Amino acid sequence: MSEIAEKFGIKQALKDLGLQETNNGTSTGKDFFSSGDVIESYSPVDGALIGKVKTTTKEDYEKVITTATAGFKEWRTWPAPQRGEVVRQFNDELRRLKEPLGKLVSYEMGKSYQEGLGEVQEMIDICDFAVGLSRQLHGLTMHSERPGHRMYEQYHPLGVVGIISAFNFPVAVWSWNTALAWVCGDACIWKGSEKTPLTSVACQNIAARVFAENNVPEGISSLITGDYKIGEIMTNDKRVPLISATGSIRMGKIVAQAVAARLGKSLLELGGNNAIIVTPDADIKNTVIGAVFGAVGTCGQRCTSTRRLIIHESIYDKVKDAIVKAYKQLRIGNPLDENNHVGPLIDKDAVKNYQSALDKVVEEGGNILVEGGVLEGEGYESGCYVKPAIAEAKNDFKIVQHETFAPVLYIMKYSGDVSNALELQNGVVQGLSSAIMTNNLREAERFLSVEGSDCGIANVNIGTSGAEIGGAFGGEKETGGGRESGSDAWKVYMRRQTNTINYTTELPLAQGIKFDL
Ligand code: NAD
Repeated sequence: MSEIAEKFGIKQALKDLGLQETNNGTSTGKDFFSSGDVIESYSPVDGALIGKVKTTTKEDYEKVITTATAGFKEWRTWPAPQRGEVVRQFNDELRRLKEPLGKLVSYEMGKSYQEGLGEVQEMIDICDFAVGLSRQLHGLTMHSERPGHRMYEQYHPLGVVGIISAFNFPVAVWSWNTALAWVCGDACIWKGSEKTPLTSVACQNIAARVFAENNVPEGISSLITGDYKIGEIMTNDKRVPLISATGSIRMGKIVAQAVAARLGKSLLELGGNNAIIVTPDADIKNTVIGAVFGAVGTCGQRCTSTRRLIIHESIYDKVKDAIVKAYKQLRIGNPLDENNHVGPLIDKDAVKNYQSALDKVVEEGGNILVEGGVLEGEGYESGCYVKPAIAEAKNDFKIVQHETFAPVLYIMKYSGDVSNALELQNGVVQGLSSAIMTNNLREAERFLSVEGSDCGIANVNIGTSGAEIGGAFGGEKETGGGRESGSDAWKVYMRRQTNTINYTTELPLAQGIKFDL
């Protein structure tokens, strides 16, 4: 255990999360499903080895899917509120273990401890939501056009749901899916990111304990571990009716094609290229807070991170100067230390992508306003700490069109009215999050109108980053079109059935058709 791990209580957190006796298996804790090579998990915080996890082989996967499929057949017969009760107890455990889990998220992924706790809080919130939902899986009733007939729709569980998640939200994304899928009556197989395998195992351990206490059938929560290869086995498996995949657009295109080829359903939550429009009527103080947190929070590794600032020419210099000034105050370092604002990138490949983005923006004619660079020396031994950078750039630069998963903010000017800013904002292939900073009602409403933002998330006077679980979360265009979390996102985890019942002694046909025999 490294010095930092000792000092910030990682050893105790691992113990609290039961990570000595690693369970990498299914809902009630059976550990016979991972017999493959070992993944070593290194912390980007200090480069130390945190732990090792065995990967899932093809043969192991076969046992997982068979167990989950059999478990589903029983689980689907449990009344939904009883399934909700299990989720409620799981949530009690999350509340109890919030600190150790938040700490492990921070240490394994590199986001600040506060953000790690925030991520666990999202798990807690979605579980609360799901418990209520377990008594509200409503369908509609309709009036039949035929006399003596009743018509309604109902929702049944879908089956086994495959969840693929990204490294940057190593625990929340799983719970956004599972909490809903469980109350809906589905079994879940989770392939977490190979970059954060220990947080996956920690979550699985919590589910395993609660599920065993409640006699939940084996396989309702299953974990498979490994890289894209094990993910591909699952996405190509027709026994998995829904694949919910979170990650890069590159991955989403592969997954979408594999699932479509077998006419399965996919829920895709892919990359973003999020912009804030700053109009002449913006509150500059709030704009700076929203933009800086959006661009450097989680070291620029949120799907909703602010990548572009589109500022009206009349206030361009003022906003630019205020943001550059704010960047000078950023403290970069160990994310477990609450004095720091910015932690490390996930690994050295991410550092290379960051450096290459800065080179490219200069090659394309951009102007660096805040220099980037990789930090070295004491506290930065992992080689993953970088300086958040700002460049003046044009929207049509290739590098600006691309999502670089790092703290690089592009700023640009617009002139005239807000429609010119919207053209720039919408002029990218991604469509996740967007924001406008304005106190002008007309501008705000135009931003939200049918001719406004084309993103799944459109905010007024808050930044692009972060979202509450109550709303449906997701984006349009190459972000994939999926929605998860709140609102009616639960419907994707169920199959809808329309029922028509005839309680007469006749058999009238629909549309008045006569068929006399
Ligand atoms: P990634 O695409 O490299 O990996 C994501 C997951 O997909 C991992 O578990 C990986 O093993 C798996 N995977 C990769 N190729 C696969 C394949 N061919 N078949 C099946 N599984 C495969 O992404 P990452 O680097 O972990 O995460 C960063 C990306 O995720 C960014 O683009 C970010 O915007 C996006 N993201 C989006 C959301 C959202 O809700 N829209 C949320 C978080 C992250």
